[in-house]
Amino acid sequence: MAQLGCVDHGRSESHRWPLGRGEGEEFADTNPARPAEVVARGRFASAGEVERAIGAAREAAPGWAATPHHARAAVLTGAADLVDASAGEWGAELAREEGKTLAEAVAEVRGAARILRYYASEADRESGEVFASPRPGENVLVVRKPIGVAGLITPFNFPIAIPAWKLGPALTYGNTVVWKPSSLVPLLAYRLAKALVEAGLPDGVLNLVYGEAEAGSAIVGHPGVDAVSFTGSTDVGRAVIARCGELGKPVQTEMGGKNASVVLADADLGHAAEQVCLGAFRSTGQKCTATSRLIVASQVADELLERVAERAARLVVGDPLSPEVEMGPLVSSAARERVSAGVRLAVGEGAKPLAGASPLEREGWFVPPTVLDLPGTGVDFWRTELFGPVVGAVRASSTEEAFGLANLSDHGLSAAVFTRDLGVALSAVERLEVGVLHVNSESAGTFPYVPFGGAKQSGFGPKEQGRAAREFYTRTVTVYLGAPA
Ligand code: NAP
Repeated sequence: MAQLGCVDHGRSESHRWPLGRGEGEEFADTNPARPAEVVARGRFASAGEVERAIGAAREAAPGWAATPHHARAAVLTGAADLVDASAGEWGAELAREEGKTLAEAVAEVRGAARILRYYASEADRESGEVFASPRPGENVLVVRKPIGVAGLITPFNFPIAIPAWKLGPALTYGNTVVWKPSSLVPLLAYRLAKALVEAGLPDGVLNLVYGEAEAGSAIVGHPGVDAVSFTGSTDVGRAVIARCGELGKPVQTEMGGKNASVVLADADLGHAAEQVCLGAFRSTGQKCTATSRLIVASQVADELLERVAERAARLVVGDPLSPEVEMGPLVSSAARERVSAGVRLAVGEGAKPLAGASPLEREGWFVPPTVLDLPGTGVDFWRTELFGPVVGAVRASSTEEAFGLANLSDHGLSAAVFTRDLGVALSAVERLEVGVLHVNSESAGTFPYVPFGGAKQSGFGPKEQGRAAREFYTRTVTVYLGAPA
């Protein structure tokens, strides 16, 4: 079992503090497949420690901003090497603390290394623009500077990848950081922070604080934090936006989804059914981009739903560390209660279960992969993100109706469309109100070098990943560079 301590909030000796030292309340990080098993223990940061973490980040900010970009990048590359070298071990820890399968967990750890390398390579790319001037001898330069101290707040469902896609750009562009990970997944946060410190991050540049909502809101509201990047639920995200708005603080939020997969009559149904199941059930449905609404052309609906239900019923559910297991538990008992209650409500409102739905009588926070045939779009399930392995289907009598149903949501994170018709695929690009669109692949999945983020209630502010991240983690200075008189 690991003993956790906050990393590097304080002064030069701080990241060598004995693990587990701190002033706040103790916590135990437990395995959702076997809740009695403690994976790690640590302490939440006290209010004073949060304050000190922010102070340390402020103090370190000028030095890190002045460090050459290539030197900053070398730290990210070194950390990526450490993350890669530990992928097997940390993947197993991730599976034990969060509940996704070992294969997904190891892939996530390797993905985090890839993200850090991408942002290290930013040092080799252009970092500003030069414009012509109508005035003789003058050029106009647009240069980029760090924003200062970035407050990062991350969710439980990608314990190392989402932190990496915030830390990578924050650090490469010269910002210092105060980071509060989800209290459900402290161990992988510790692993990533330690890798960065061991790779040479100077003291005070990264400050990891453990805590729950109170610590998160202290970071958001603190005048020493110049900008906030949040990923999590829409309700919390909107509160973060409101607070940053009051304070006039730049904010970026990536929030919840209720993502649709649209299967049209000309689609390859075998492929579509497989992809819908991957989108709905991988990571136990705990992905912001997971498929939770399925819209199927009426002509092929019975066949497609039969295939999806059959695949769902065959999924091997169990301990995520067992190689044959395809779906692990939900992250917590509260998550299991929320998902089970959502399924009960849907059935009460007239949804017909085609697979799953009944509780699983076993130790751990397991629920079955569930497929619901919905009576229409008036049910609560259509609107509410359950964040679990549950997909609800409706039928559409035309492509136009199918796209309209996909847009019938306050969320707009991702969607998938299955068709063999390129013209229809292109019209989906025009019509669907989402930030991420997959054609003939599951609704989840991102590459680190292209923008990621949602439309409507799913996202606010500049997008993450790829070069889009520069828009949030830097500010521009426009320089009118005239020739000396
Ligand atoms: P969450 O409950 O909203 O928590 C997210 C983070 O915010 C956690 O670190 C949480 O701390 C912290 N927090 C809670 N209340 C806060 C407050 N008042 N002020 C500041 N911080 C606060 O979300 P989650 O359950 O971890 O993650 C699942 C949600 O995230 C889903 O809705 C999912 O769709 C969304 N998500 C979105 C994306 C995306 O890119 N769009 C990606 C992944 C997940 P504690 O939990 O420790 O209390």
